[in-house]
Formats: sequence, C-alpha cells, structure tokens
Amino acid sequence: MNIGLLGGGQLGRMMIQAAHQLGHTVTVLDPDPNGPAGQIADQVIVGAYDDPQALAQLAQAASVFTTEFENVPAASLRFLAAHGPTYPNADCVEKAQDRLVEKAFIQSAGVAVAAHAAIRSVDDLKTCAAELFPAILKTARLGYDGKGQAVVQNRDQAIEAFKSMGAVVCVLEKKLPLAKEISVIIARHADGSVAVFPVGENIHKGGILDTTMVPAQIDDQLASTARDAASRIAQTMGYVGVLCVEFFVLADGSLVANEMAPRPHNSGHYSIEACQTSQFEQQVRICTGQALGSTDLKFPVRMTNLLGDLWFPNGEAAGQVEPDWAAMTQTPGSSLHLYGKAQARPGRKMGHLTQRLDV
Ligand code: ADP
Ligand code: MG
Repeated sequence: MNIGLLGGGQLGRMMIQAAHQLGHTVTVLDPDPNGPAGQIADQVIVGAYDDPQALAQLAQAASVFTTEFENVPAASLRFLAAHGPTYPNADCVEKAQDRLVEKAFIQSAGVAVAAHAAIRSVDDLKTCAAELFPAILKTARLGYDGKGQAVVQNRDQAIEAFKSMGAVVCVLEKKLPLAKEISVIIARHADGSVAVFPVGENIHKGGILDTTMVPAQIDDQLASTARDAASRIAQTMGYVGVLCVEFFVLADGSLVANEMAPRPHNSGHYSIEACQTSQFEQQVRICTGQALGSTDLKFPVRMTNLLGDLWFPNGEAAGQVEPDWAAMTQTPGSSLHLYGKAQARPGRKMGHLTQRLDV
C-alpha cells in the first residue's frame, strides 16, 4: 500500500522506516526534497503543504493519508479526505492547532487544564483574573519547543510580552508548580480499538524536550488516571491515528493536561526499541488497516534528544565537530538514531539516543 505523508521531518522519517519494515511505500509532500523523510521516501512531491497541484499529485499517488506535522493546513487534509481516509482527520488536527480550542476541548472531555484566559487585546490583560499571575503568555497558534511563550509576573509584563509577540491571539495561563511532566501516547484505530503506551516522564531544557524515562516514576494510580484521561480525549474526538497528550503532575499530586499533538511524538521515540510495537508502526498499522500491536514495555528505558549544540563543543564560531559516537554508544543497550540533517544548529533536533536501563 502507498501512504501519502504531509511533512518531511524526523517523525516522518521514522514512520517511513516502520512502513518499509511492513512492506509498504510512502510518498512525501514537503517543500524540501532532502529533509529527513524525503531522503528515504519512495517518492517526494516537492511543494508547499497548501499547494493545490502538489496536493492533487499526492491524492493520485496514495490511497491513505497522514501527517507528521502538527501545523499542516486543515484544508489540505480536507482536500485529501475526498481521495482516501486521512488519519488523523482535519477536525482533530485543527483542535490541536489552537491552544484556546484545545483547552476548551480537553475540558469538554472531562480532563482538567490550567486556569487560563483568552487574550485578544491589551484590554483582556487589564481585566483578566489577578489569580492567573504569575503566568505564562503563549501564542494561541504555531508555538513549539517553548517558542512563542513568555513567563510574566504581572499585568504590566504581560502587556509588554503581548505587544512584543505582535499582539496575536494568546492564552494567558497560570504558572503551575510542576512536580513532574509526563506524556501518554495513544494509538486509536478506525475500528475504535485503542492501544495506550506506558507513561513517559519528560525533562525539558530551555523549553525543548531533553529526556524521556519510561516507565515514569509515578504511582500506579496516577499512571492509570493519565492513561484514562488520554483515552477519553482520543475517544471524545473520534480520533484515529497516534496522539500524544502532555500532562503536568502538580506538587499536590493532581494531574493537569497541558497540550496534545496529533501525531507520533518526541517523547515516544523510546518505543522503537523498548515496546513490542513502536508509535510509528502503530501509525502505519492504522493507515494500512492492520490491527494495533501490543504496547508492552520490554525494558526500562531512557531517550535523550541530541540537539545541534552537541556539534559545537567549542562554540558555533569554531565550526561543526562530529560528536564522539563511540563514547555515546559504549554502554550495551544503546541505540543511536540520526535524522540525516547535514547542518547542525543550536537547538535543532539532530537525532536521539535510546538506552536500556536494565543492562
Ligand atoms: P510547547 O508547544 O512549546 O511544547 P508547552 O505548552 O508544552 O509548549 O510549554 C513548554 C514547557 O513550558 C512545558 O513543557 C512546561 O515545562 C512549561 N510550561 C508550560 N505551561 C506551563 C504552566 N502553565 N505552568 C508551568 N510550566 C509550564
Ligand atoms: Mg509541549
């Protein structure tokens, strides 16, 4: 079967690797023919995600469609839906593209979110509840890896941050006392069956995921509450595909949903080695009509992101140096994944390292 994939990054690359393993092919639509996914795709259509001609070509090439990229235009998925199923569909992807819509939806599914207010004008910041401060101001759309966010102590700082973000629609969110950050990845099939992955515990550095440890060091009760909440969110949306829900565990032990990603997620990369079925394979199974596989964890594991900074031990001006892969993979049970990006840049996700914790 040929799968049509919108987006050409590392998530797409790992999805293609899973598709090839299962004997399927993938046509990628991406502006960059040599991106991580384009390099190994069976076919690349070079174009913008909203280019009608490129979309028409993709519609012809494939019989089922998916995305690895959260900000794919919903209209593109709607167009493709006339030519074959899209997993996930446009309505679900749209819900995750706007933090205000997303939070309202998560609440409607009966899952708690941080106290927040919609900010469309300076006036909204003058009149919002005082209890929200200190707060985080986030652009409602297009933020990722901590970009488009500012921590603000009071109204004046919030107004300043809002203006410096170009006065685009924002959400002002109470800054919560986080004990831990966890995520739950769930695969939901068109037939309604679900497979929930073990809970991952995430550590962010500078707004970017640094490590994921699985299983998360939380009690069983909290883990099952988180897995149930993620299932409820997926079910309420009628979601089909792989979905990640990020949660905060607060100092008092309560659980708050932060955001969701309608695609395989960085915090699920460990599943390639450590689960019976990886998050990428689940996505391919869903696209090709196979039953979901088991998400059982084979061994405890840590995934560490390898950012471009690693290539510049002496600073960017001194030039790019290849990291010491031998040292990094010394420990038995280490698996290195590089995404094929030629140019390292600070903060750029270049690869990841998965390490078994039981050897
Ligand atoms: P992104 O889309 O950039 O991942 P997030 O909303 O997940 O945006 O925020 C990035 C990180 O900022 C979170 O992983 C968390 O560490 C911190 N953060 C976000 N919102 C809050 C909050 N309401 N209270 C405390 N920390 C937060
Ligand atoms: Mg996040």
